[in-house]
Amino acid sequence: MTNRQTEENKRWGVITGGSRGIGQAIALELADQGVNIWILYLQDDKSADATVEIIRKRGVRAERTSADVADPSQVDAAFSGIMKATDRVDVLVNCAGIAQDHTLEKLSVEEWNRVLSVNLSGAFHCSKAVLRNMKNRNYGRIINISSVIGQTGNIGQANYSSSKAGLIGFTKSLALETAKYDITVNAICPGFIHTGMIEKIPVDVREGIRQKIPKQRFGTPHEIARMAAFLSAPESAYITGQSININGGLYL
Ligand code: NAD
Repeated sequence: MTNRQTEENKRWGVITGGSRGIGQAIALELADQGVNIWILYLQDDKSADATVEIIRKRGVRAERTSADVADPSQVDAAFSGIMKATDRVDVLVNCAGIAQDHTLEKLSVEEWNRVLSVNLSGAFHCSKAVLRNMKNRNYGRIINISSVIGQTGNIGQANYSSSKAGLIGFTKSLALETAKYDITVNAICPGFIHTGMIEKIPVDVREGIRQKIPKQRFGTPHEIARMAAFLSAPESAYITGQSININGGLYL
């Protein structure tokens, strides 16, 4: 085994929202690249345990912590536990996200605040929690999972689209702040991807969406995970501040 491989095998990645869906696919893909995985999730112990088991079978270490990314004190507690155990976070994927949809007149203040707090502030809290470690080690890869809806808007999703558009601005600002270290910060903007989130859309509406996608199908979590693995590789050092679209041609 070369020194480089030995060094790479010590890498740790924290994936928020890693218990299922897109986050789980990213966790598995990074594990296949030899990255040890720590998943953060909320109220999803069964899926989190199952994911940890699958990852361990792939030959890397895997741990999980339940924490609400919207709550800075829970994030601090989670990351101080992670840092104590690992001493390092090489990759952070901010994937935890929710949707609470209503057209604006019906959208409550609580729904507005909650979606912004989880999707946007969650990425802020978690990035802040790893930044000192990454700067001290002069290395890091941060990937924010935004959405095509942050680029196009969508009826009934003012809160969601604002949070996802905000993530793109957050990505660019943090990329500029960290560029002089070997830290990159990028966003992935998935189109409609087949997960539990999509299954909540009524069947007829879902079919209407599918027909509007030039590729005529929803994406798979694995198709997003491949890009996350690419961006999180040490060799991807010159890509920063970018938003990568994976949407089957829905938004060009
Ligand atoms: P999902 O509902 O299947 O999984 C969501 C994950 O986030 C779970 O692990 C859950 O435990 C975690 N989570 C939710 N709230 C949390 C909180 N407050 N604190 C910590 N963890 C929390 O969703 P998904 O479809 O896999 O989506 C994952 C991400 O991708 C989200 O940010 C979503 O907005 C984004 N996205 C999804 C699609 C899609 O079509 N599915 C498209 C574009 C972007």
